[in-house]
Amino acid sequence: MRPLRTLIVEDSVDDTELLLHALRRGGYEPEYARVDTPESMGAELRAREWDIVFSDFTMPRFNAFDALSLLRDSGLDLPFIIVSGTIGEDRAVIAMKAGAHDYILKDNLKRLAPAVDRELRDAQVRRERREADETIRRLAYTDPVTNLPNRTRFGEYTQEAIWQTRTDEEVMALLVMDLDRFQEVNDTLGHTRGDQLLRQVGLRLRSVLYVTDVVARLGGDEFGILLPRLARGSDLMTVVGKLQDFLQAPFMIEGIPIAVEASIGVALMPDHAADAGTLMQHAEIAMYRAKRTTSSCVVYAPELNLHSPERLGLMAELRAAIEHDQLLLHFQPKGQIATRNVIGAEALVRWNHPRYGLLAPERFIVAAEHTGLINPLGEWVLSRALRECQRARACGIHLRVSVNLSARSLHDPHLPEVIAKKLADASASPEQLTLEITESAIVLDPQRAEATLTTLSRMGIWISIDDFGTGYTSLASIKHLPVNEIKIDKSFVTDMLTNKRDAMIVRSVIELGHNLGLRVVAEGVENEQTLDALALLGCDEAQGYFISYPHDFDALMSWLESTSWKPVRDS
Ligand code: C2E
Ligand code: MG
Ligand code: MG
Repeated sequence: MRPLRTLIVEDSVDDTELLLHALRRGGYEPEYARVDTPESMGAELRAREWDIVFSDFTMPRFNAFDALSLLRDSGLDLPFIIVSGTIGEDRAVIAMKAGAHDYILKDNLKRLAPAVDRELRDAQVRRERREADETIRRLAYTDPVTNLPNRTRFGEYTQEAIWQTRTDEEVMALLVMDLDRFQEVNDTLGHTRGDQLLRQVGLRLRSVLYVTDVVARLGGDEFGILLPRLARGSDLMTVVGKLQDFLQAPFMIEGIPIAVEASIGVALMPDHAADAGTLMQHAEIAMYRAKRTTSSCVVYAPELNLHSPERLGLMAELRAAIEHDQLLLHFQPKGQIATRNVIGAEALVRWNHPRYGLLAPERFIVAAEHTGLINPLGEWVLSRALRECQRARACGIHLRVSVNLSARSLHDPHLPEVIAKKLADASASPEQLTLEITESAIVLDPQRAEATLTTLSRMGIWISIDDFGTGYTSLASIKHLPVNEIKIDKSFVTDMLTNKRDAMIVRSVIELGHNLGLRVVAEGVENEQTLDALALLGCDEAQGYFISYPHDFDALMSWLESTSWKPVRDS
């Protein structure tokens, strides 16, 4: 006999006995309570844990709909089965739509135990999915070395703090702190000890600050500190002084004393920026200045911006590169797994630099975002991608082209107009275009992102969430966005055959994505076994070196002629 914690919403004692009897015959040992009013049900739900709820349809003071909403309001996801003598088919359907899992007629109680078996199993599956979603979220939010919030989460905290209205007497300060010569520690003492040092620094920073202040690890040896409510005046320097004092005492790593110095850059809100992204960028510029001079803390000033390292060197050349056609696009096909059709390709930008050769986007996209060059770059990519897409069409091949959109472009209010113009220039239709955006782009300013995405989506353009799983979003939070597709980040896909955690994440993203009616694409598919595993999980599309490396347009066209993956041709 399996124990079953059973809550029975029922006014008749006799009917309760019949129900208990049916459960026992089905192999269950119910520990039960019977309730027949909203008050008593609420009290029982709060008092202990339950496995399942049975409810009569109508009772003198209560009914199944009210019981259902009570259950929902209490935040519990328990199987809810209506057991009734009176319910008609139509009302049963309404009840199921309202969230009941099953209904059983009182004169057909032999169906009860099998229904319980099934609903308990389903509830278990739902629980596991929720946990997987939680895990994805947690992993995406915390830095594994220090257990502090990571850069993404830090950005979110900053955004949240900005929304909290402030009085004129208060400012918000964002500090970026970079440890000096940390690389030496890593090189001489090894990574494990380097990590220990980072953890200890994190702990010390945390211990100096108020609980309402935020400490995050932004990556490498960079920490971010957010002081959301700072009185104007001398407060800031007091805090900075305290931070520096606390770092003075050497850190003990396996008995070895290590002295740490740090460069701190500060930017203030509203003085130096009006949004989270700019605030962060300005704090970083100030930090770079601190690193290059003898002062250990620099507060941002607009003059610094002119000398920021991103502005120098490569960026000056990038502008010319866009104008002189030194950029090029590679295309990587996206294949539909079930049919082996190639239905689209992702456009990936490269820079053919006269001295450094072919530069990958990692080398210049971030800096381009910081300097505003990302807009002309993005427009160039869009025009070229649509043009090539039309060239394919002229050869009778239908390809939907995916273009990566940077966070900064997404927040440009003119984006929809610009895209409409590019579509018109290329005589392309919106259905030929998919825009890939990352989760972090949405986090920066969710309201603006939603508005822009809605406009784009209404135009008929597909929206895809790129690198899913690496950012902050849980699927639940993109539910209300007009999204058509999610791309599971390659870091999960590449190792899914050997790493159980990755496999679990891939599986649950596919399931949850499908539950939301989204297409799910796996990127980074590097071998046949992975493709087979994805096919079994019902993943819709795949992209990766196993299918094809990214190639220039002509090479893509010859590949399409020779491969077993079939393009969609004019009929
Ligand atoms: P992404 O959008 O996630 O693009 C997929 C990246 O994964 C590409 O790197 C691609 O070459 C690589 N990749 C493809 N198949 C595999 C595989 O099987 N295994 C592995 N390990 N990697 C694979 P790429 O071209 O270096 O692009 C890197 C990132 O740069 C892109 O990531 C995207 O975020 C950004 N990017 C590329 N082009 C543009 C652009 O035109 N505009 C903007 N804003 N960003 C771009
Ligand atoms: Mg992409
Ligand atoms: Mg990606």
